[in-house]
Amino acid sequence: MPEGDTIHRTAGRLRTALDGCVVTGVDFARWVGPTPTAGETVDAVRARGKHLLIDFSGGLTLHTHMGMSGSWHLYPDADRWRRPRHLARAEVSVDGWTAVCLAAPLVRLERRDNPRHLDHLGPDLAVADADTDAAVARLGSQGSVEIGVALLDQRVASGIGNVYKSEVLHACGVDPTARVADLDLVARRQLFETAARLLRANLGAGPRRTVVGGLAVYGRTRRPCRRCGTPVAVMRQGSQARATYWCPTCQPPSCRGGSYDPADPAARASGTGRGEVDDR
Ligand SMILES: [Zn+2]
Repeated sequence: MPEGDTIHRTAGRLRTALDGCVVTGVDFARWVGPTPTAGETVDAVRARGKHLLIDFSGGLTLHTHMGMSGSWHLYPDADRWRRPRHLARAEVSVDGWTAVCLAAPLVRLERRDNPRHLDHLGPDLAVADADTDAAVARLGSQGSVEIGVALLDQRVASGIGNVYKSEVLHACGVDPTARVADLDLVARRQLFETAARLLRANLGAGPRRTVVGGLAVYGRTRRPCRRCGTPVAVMRQGSQARATYWCPTCQPPSCRGGSYDPADPAARASGTGRGEVDDR
């Protein structure tokens, strides 16, 4: 599933082609209801957490969420699509370009002046002035929830997906199964500030680098932790059984954030990986 940084990057690419342009054609394959029409202008292309929004001058906003399967593609006129056309859920053409949203589970058109669909979202951690204090405050209502579950809750903070969840917890030395109530304010703040830093580091051009030097734990079951060499472990968390990758040494149960000593043999544990899982 694309995380906040990927959606912001996608919005940036779409913006270069669509922003301020006159719409020459639209197709919303399964949508029943009002749609923008040719002749309107694209007023803005926006990202909010994992949601991508396109505002049209007629007052409608195209609201998309990629879920596990969706993607936006941008094609110059006459280019062949790289995916089958029957997957298209929304298509917006301007002079020279067609933007197409494929296989996304959420595609709907909404009145721009009725933005309730985003009210539940916590602060977007991928923006320059991310309100990490608000994220810390919202986390306070999740006291009995495991932090590895709470970080994915977009009502707390928006933008963190499954890759960043594992990487941020590892970077901060926090046990993924720690209850939110067990984490002090310093640890909570460190988690969101780290997430915001990692998300923003990927907003520029070039390949995505979730963590400089490569992923530390995500997708690396039984391979050595890049920090201490302990085999990386994986487990499933929450009602959706999302995969969490973690290092038993850097993130021991006693560790609630802060310092750790990877050289301490007492803290060293063997990996408990139960096989690779692709769960972004
Ligand atoms: Zn480690």
